Amino acid sequence: MIKYDLHTHSTASDGTLTPTELVQRAKEQLVDVLALTDHDTVAGIEEAITAANIHRITLIPGVEISSQWENTGIHVIGLNIDIRSNKLLTQLQQLQTLRATRAQEIGRRLAKAGIPNAYQGALQYTREENLTRTHFARFLVAQGKADSISRVFKHYLVPGKPGYVKTEWPALREVVQWIKDAGGMAIIAHPARYKLTASKMRRLLQDFKNYGGTGIEVAHGNCNPDETAKNMKFAEAFELRASIGSDFHDPDTPWNELGRLPRLPKHLPTVWDNGL
Ligand code: AMP
Ligand code: MN
Ligand code: MN
Ligand code: MN
Repeated sequence: MIKYDLHTHSTASDGTLTPTELVQRAKEQLVDVLALTDHDTVAGIEEAITAANIHRITLIPGVEISSQWENTGIHVIGLNIDIRSNKLLTQLQQLQTLRATRAQEIGRRLAKAGIPNAYQGALQYTREENLTRTHFARFLVAQGKADSISRVFKHYLVPGKPGYVKTEWPALREVVQWIKDAGGMAIIAHPARYKLTASKMRRLLQDFKNYGGTGIEVAHGNCNPDETAKNMKFAEAFELRASIGSDFHDPDTPWNELGRLPRLPKHLPTVWDNGL
């Protein structure tokens, strides 16, 4: 039985393990096929491939791209992308610019809310200067603003809170095309997290399918059996292939440990059916 984990993060975005450490941990957790899917960057992939060769596990070059569909932020996993595609690298660079601008604005807003130097503070938590809200959250926890990352999000970093900045991510349609142009397959990440009504979710998946999307994460970190069952139904209804990924970020959040994912029923087509 091959063990897959097709959604993980490293220090190239908001994970706490370096790509090398991530691969080591995946090996310890008996993962056979691991995708590194950092937010809007492929900067960690080469290091991960080197480590994967040493540990004899299969490393799938991936990315998790931030996109927008009807005012909802949607994350799209790209698997088996060509990380040397200049076009893709340029597109991801645009997202890095968006992130940098947003981060400065988050810093300004937090300063107005009485928390100075958050931009510089968040930067201390990055290796590649790929700033995400998670880095701000780590800084705010260190500042004693809340006792956990999830509480800091709730009080500072989500819509309606002082450190939230709306970002115009590229349209879902475009992002799916970027992934396809780079030779990869596009997968809707963690569908349960968007809190969409069933009818809106169906529209999202129909659009995604029409744009050329391939798969949907039916099981992901922090997703309960009910959500997984629903996602499997969506997969079948829209003929999207099933994917699974822990969305691992940090060994200190054991609820989404690497490789800890349910088995899928045999009849369900998966993103790895035709070989990954
Ligand atoms: P960003 O892409 O910069 O907006 O940051 C999104 C990242 O923040 C996600 O990938 C998660 O890692 C993290 N995140 C979002 N919401 C929460 C939350 N409520 N609790 C903990 N982490 C969160
Ligand atoms: Mn993240
Ligand atoms: Mn995500
Ligand atoms: Mn993720």
